[in-house]
Amino acid sequence: MELNTSHTFTKQLPADKNLNNTRRQVLGACYSYVQPKKTANPKLIHTAKHFANSIGISEKMLTSEDFLKVITGNQLLQNTTPYAMCYGGHQFGNWAGQLGDGRAINLTDIIHDNKKWTLQLKGAGETPYSRSADGLAVLRSSIREYLCSEAMHYLGVPTTRALSLALTGDQVLRDVLYNGNPAYEKGAIVCRVAPSFLRFGSYEILTARKDYTTLKTLVDYTITHHFPEIANRNKADYLTFFQAVCNKTLNMIIHWQRVGFVHGVMNTDNMSVLGLTIDYGPYGWLEGFDYDWTPNTTDSEHKRYRFGNQPNISLWNLLQLANALYPLIEDAEALEIILNEYNTQFHHKYQQMMKAKLGLTSYNENDTELIKNLEANLHLSETDMTIFFRSLASYSKNDNINLKAILNPIKEAFYKPEEITGEIKKRWETWLQTYINRLAEEPYTDTERTSAMNGINPKYVLRNYMAQLAIEAADKEEYQLVDELYTLLQKPYEEQPEHQKWFAKRPEWARHKIGCSMLSCSS
Ligand code: AMP
Ligand code: MG
Repeated sequence: MELNTSHTFTKQLPADKNLNNTRRQVLGACYSYVQPKKTANPKLIHTAKHFANSIGISEKMLTSEDFLKVITGNQLLQNTTPYAMCYGGHQFGNWAGQLGDGRAINLTDIIHDNKKWTLQLKGAGETPYSRSADGLAVLRSSIREYLCSEAMHYLGVPTTRALSLALTGDQVLRDVLYNGNPAYEKGAIVCRVAPSFLRFGSYEILTARKDYTTLKTLVDYTITHHFPEIANRNKADYLTFFQAVCNKTLNMIIHWQRVGFVHGVMNTDNMSVLGLTIDYGPYGWLEGFDYDWTPNTTDSEHKRYRFGNQPNISLWNLLQLANALYPLIEDAEALEIILNEYNTQFHHKYQQMMKAKLGLTSYNENDTELIKNLEANLHLSETDMTIFFRSLASYSKNDNINLKAILNPIKEAFYKPEEITGEIKKRWETWLQTYINRLAEEPYTDTERTSAMNGINPKYVLRNYMAQLAIEAADKEEYQLVDELYTLLQKPYEEQPEHQKWFAKRPEWARHKIGCSMLSCSS
């Protein structure tokens, strides 16, 4: 298999001199050379054909024996030296020391149309960073990562991509609920792709070890390859770099809040320096709009990573990155100004985003309140976020407000319609009346507004139970649903009447089901 490979990461950054695949602290290096583990009986489940083409991998290559061997660890691409990256991280608010790619192995970079992409196998075996774990991944978490990262891309959310999903043919032991009941599951590997997999923790680990020489080398490398608009390498430029990471992070979080994505484990080792959604673990999608919701059972007590806290946590994580970059900048005040500005910017961008979801383009001083009241209403009784916003486009600026029917367009969004009475009903009626009056101020026609709203409020997202259904089928070697969901989620804003059944509230059976509303970090 011929690909246009490139090796800047390994050429320009210091390597771990120890070539043994033993678990250890790796000092003075950004990565360790390591080879993927051979797999017993690999089998391809799915490939992202469009994406593959866009990075120079033809359909013919995708279906070749060689491709399957490469993406399941049984063959190396010519002249490549796979490696695992060293990073640390703050996990649930505490410094965790060295983490690193414990089960992800970077195969190589490839260049296509002047763009560079790193190919990485997740679940490809032990590395020096595996700590006490096995370096493997199971089918269920791999399906979740494969489908969701692609769905996010098509939703317009910055994310790492996925090229392929394959079974390894090996069995992997997992204790899903961490309750002393381990069982064997099917092993799988996702080939992930991104311009870079560098994380906040990649810089934090170097500063924590006072290795400022490697820190500077890594930051300079990052700027050269990923922030080329920054010309020099002085303190002001490092500040500009930090500002750029803040902007990208902010943009990503606004998108998450827009589509109702909850990452679930926003540790600093899971924060991409490029502002990409990365490391799909116990993530989830809002069904009922709820700021307090988290899919992660490991976080169920403090709910640190709940939906409504994602903006705060991103800021906290950026503060950790600021601390990591401090030795190069040595200006705490300048860093603080940027962090403070993040809050202001967030508020501003969030309002803009919510106005767009409501189809509002003109200015009205009461819009902030309109949005605040809407969010309060959405919490009154369980209300499906996706269905609600998609349905909102049915209101017309010329509606003669008929109170009796005013709730009809959004009725489908309520999980417990019987609760929409009395005070709750009144509050919705009031809000909708205000909203329809506000629409009358808009310069655009209903058709124009609907079309804009439908481009921002997705019709289809990867509801938690949908991924679970695909997993249960795949476990029985039926992969049709993986393909169906993949196809559906390539066009999340289109009507797709043939897929209407996925535009529905979460079924009751999925409310408390493991894998649907409750996910552990076990993967
Ligand atoms: P995560 O919570 O999945 O982001 O993982 C945190 C750290 O644990 C990262 O350094 C991962 O590479 C590592 N890790 C997670 N699962 C495994 C595994 N099965 N084997 C080795 N390392 C793992
Ligand atoms: Mg991670």
